[in-house]
Amino acid sequence: MEDIFRFADELGPSKIIHVYEPSVGLKAVLVVDNVAAGPSIGGVRMASDVSTEECFRLARSMTLKNAAAGLPYGGGKAVIYGDPKMDRNKKEMLIRALASSLRGVNEYIFAPDMGTDEYYMACVKDEIGRVVGLPRELGGIPLDEIGATGWGLMHSTAVAMEFCDLKMKGSRIVVQGFGAVGKNTADFLAEKGAIIVAVADSQGAIYNPDGLDVGSLFKLKSSGKSVIDYPDGEIIDHDFLLGIDCDVWIPAARPDVIDIDNAHRIKAKIVVEGANIPVTYTAEEYLYKKGIICVPDFIANAGGVICAVTEYEGGTECDALEIIEEKIRLNTRAVLDESLEKGIVPRQAALDIAIRRIKKAMSYRRWSLFSSAPGFI
Ligand code: NAD
Repeated sequence: MEDIFRFADELGPSKIIHVYEPSVGLKAVLVVDNVAAGPSIGGVRMASDVSTEECFRLARSMTLKNAAAGLPYGGGKAVIYGDPKMDRNKKEMLIRALASSLRGVNEYIFAPDMGTDEYYMACVKDEIGRVVGLPRELGGIPLDEIGATGWGLMHSTAVAMEFCDLKMKGSRIVVQGFGAVGKNTADFLAEKGAIIVAVADSQGAIYNPDGLDVGSLFKLKSSGKSVIDYPDGEIIDHDFLLGIDCDVWIPAARPDVIDIDNAHRIKAKIVVEGANIPVTYTAEEYLYKKGIICVPDFIANAGGVICAVTEYEGGTECDALEIIEEKIRLNTRAVLDESLEKGIVPRQAALDIAIRRIKKAMSYRRWSLFSSAPGFI
């Protein structure tokens, strides 16, 4: 069999499309993974070092994330080869060319990712219409501004607390990362009565066992300062953050921050994964064996994609927050129940649930991966 099928397994991908337009220097790849539940949604990533393999892996993770979130959408991803810092006019031309060339590929809905943003999504809207992550003026819901992912993380944390008899009020929380995800998570948790004892950004970390004032931290960040400029706390080393005595530890910054070498330092009862892959699988297994609940990224941080889907379906910001709350609570509970019942790591339970949903959707199709019915995609 030709090498092009090297990624193929029982779930997909259903299409890999090479997109080339020499007049503007466009080289791109679209991977449409499994679309049994509905059209694929996934971001357009621009980077100099992207590859078909990376595109496939990202598309597959969107298949699993959308299924785990209980959304009737499949997984897809597009990558454009190019420097994301290139001249804006040139970038706009590449994105318009990509959209035009994929006009007929109805099973892919464009979304922003690294190297693209709402402006470029507006260009896609202008060319072909099939896109999420739009500016507000075009019906977009600004998910980072409203804190969609943080809202979901707060609800996921609340459900996980029920599994270890913790109360939100007075619980002690550490948040690593104080960007779109971290700061909104801290804010929503504090609103519910949790005490934020430490937060970190790329400059360093700040700690106060009596709690930090999230409003003041917001003000510091919006004036361009770091969380370490907060006056009423102790500046600590990034590394010290891991071992802080707390109830919930929320990584919301970088991948692989908890690994098998440092997982023993976690004193929390719960880890809720805000960033993507912030805990290695072996560390998740270790935490599970120690009785520490670890809610996997694609369950806890799905607020963003749920918000994007709400936008695509014409919903409002209020609808998005309501749907995120309902779905994230339901899915966190389902995963933790199944983990408990079967004695398996929560990530394995989440994968099992997602794959069961995908296979069920596939069983309704004449072709297993897709449907060609009008209106389906
Ligand atoms: P962001 O760029 O807005 O914020 C990242 C934050 O992490 C910043 O405050 C930065 O200073 C901090 N940081 C960087 N390195 C750090 C370090 N070594 N230690 C401590 N803090 C550090 O990004 P974001 O949108 O908040 O996303 C954070 C993570 O969550 C990423 O992994 C992203 O892929 C993932 N994610 C984001 C969303 C979303 O809706 N934005 C949804 C799902 C997953």
